[in-house]
Amino acid sequence: MMTEVPESLRSIFDPVVAGSLVELRRELHRHPELSWQEVETAQRLRRALLDFGVSDVVSVGRTGLVARIPGRSRGAPTMGIRGDIDALPIVEDTGLPFASEAHGVMHACGHDVHASWAVGAARLLVERPAESDVLVILQPAEEVGEGARAILESGAIDDVKMIFGGHVDRRFAVGQVVAQEGPLAASTDTFTIVLAGAGAHGARPHESADPIVGAAALIGALQTLVSRRLDPSEPGVVTVGMINAGSASNIIPDRAELRGTIRATSASARALLTGELRRITEALALAYGLAASVVLEGGTPPIVNPAGATGIAREAVANVLGADALTPLGTMNMGGEDFAAYMERIPGCFMRIGAREAGGKTIPAHSAAYYAAEGALFVGAAVLAECARVGARR
Ligand SMILES: [Zn+2]
Ligand SMILES: [Zn+2]
Repeated sequence: MMTEVPESLRSIFDPVVAGSLVELRRELHRHPELSWQEVETAQRLRRALLDFGVSDVVSVGRTGLVARIPGRSRGAPTMGIRGDIDALPIVEDTGLPFASEAHGVMHACGHDVHASWAVGAARLLVERPAESDVLVILQPAEEVGEGARAILESGAIDDVKMIFGGHVDRRFAVGQVVAQEGPLAASTDTFTIVLAGAGAHGARPHESADPIVGAAALIGALQTLVSRRLDPSEPGVVTVGMINAGSASNIIPDRAELRGTIRATSASARALLTGELRRITEALALAYGLAASVVLEGGTPPIVNPAGATGIAREAVANVLGADALTPLGTMNMGGEDFAAYMERIPGCFMRIGAREAGGKTIPAHSAAYYAAEGALFVGAAVLAECARVGARR
């Protein structure tokens, strides 16, 4: 089984390079590693870069790599291309001939393809360099929302003036690319609420301050954050994903713990939802005679693509695939993406890259059946390399 390079990209990829990229992607898929454990993955990627003539590669952020591909002139602004490399704790059920050999670990988010297309972009930039140096960032630990910050804090990409990245997406066919201005991914804040009351015998509730009844009321009340407080023209999500309380059917416990996630696509919606979560929790606890503690862990901010870098990405897509490849996002994606951390400091554009094969189905990411169609590998490599070339000319 050999994946074909999409028709429009055949002139860009040497057949030997194309074969090596497919082989690399399958090796990565076969040997997935969880966030911060991507040791063998990094070794494979380093070898692949070396085979492709990229020798300036440094280890960064524990298990990440940054490769520098020299540009044609000094002084042009350095461009960045990022591919994330980590996998997820899921038992794979794809039936692929190159399915995971690490039981319980799986590339269920397509980062095997992202890592491979970044290496592919590096190769294309060796063959046809940009005006400027390009840093290809192979980033660990995206799934835990920590890798991008680690790369930034290392200082290794301090000279990058613009950064590009993308995510495979089976809602779109191979060859379609979403590169549009405005929101593209949501913020991801985590909350932990503890309701503290007083325990008692299950038969004597009047002697208790029951945190389970309080928690039930609170879960209902939290649904009004999106339905009654948030402007209905703005997307937002409040999900309670964990609830923990009690030890026996006839005991009223003295505490209940709730954990969940808040998603928003603007700074104002994010501030409103987190602020209102705290206010409603504290007020409701008071009404139920409970003490509340609310701990918010700030995750990644939303991704909001700015006009300038998005214009460059759109030009790049049109150059390699034709303008028809540009597709609107349609329904907002409320998932998070730690690429947002780069964009707090560096202008950039994050894309959705179509990854559904002809006749294929939409399969949700982070599910045991998920995989990205292999053709997406060539689209991502070609588009990202061209983003760097167009960006460096501006
Ligand atoms: Zn993911
Ligand atoms: Zn992902």
